Amino acid sequence: MQEKDPEKGMLVRKIEEGTVVDHIPDWKAQTVSKVLRLDKLARMQSEISVAILQNVDSKTLARKDVIKIDRWHVDEKEADILSLIFPGITVNYINEWKVSKYSSKVPDTIEGRIKCPEVNCISNSGREPVVSKFVTLKRDRLLQCHYCDTTVEFERIPDLVSA
Ligand SMILES: [Zn+2]
Repeated sequence: MQEKDPEKGMLVRKIEEGTVVDHIPDWKAQTVSKVLRLDKLARMQSEISVAILQNVDSKTLARKDVIKIDRWHVDEKEADILSLIFPGITVNYINEWKVSKYSSKVPDTIEGRIKCPEVNCISNSGREPVVSKFVTLKRDRLLQCHYCDTTVEFERIPDLVSA
């Protein structure tokens, strides 16, 4: 049986060190996991454990997903990218059981995390040592490639994150 409030319940124990990504829209935890490249983390760092809760009750949303990452602090830049895709998401860093909520920033530019969808873009040419670079157009909820001007809706970012 699931508890009404997963934070108070025994669904998943509290963590001493790590990150809790909360208020993820229901059933979107896998998308968040992809953006944060959690599968890669799991392969590299054997002491990290990840709990993914899907479709749990929420006070502020009807339903939500939650990801708890034990012994790993998500990079702030990755948290900022997540907030572009899911503005309502909360990233909490846990240090010695203490929870501090991260205030995400809208990055002016994003370098090297997202692949340009334009195949002919110089950032996709294997011969050129060019790192992808996007400028954030916040009001339009778009990223624009610095090199070829191709635009990407924030919602499409998960499809373009490089592994
Ligand atoms: Zn491009």
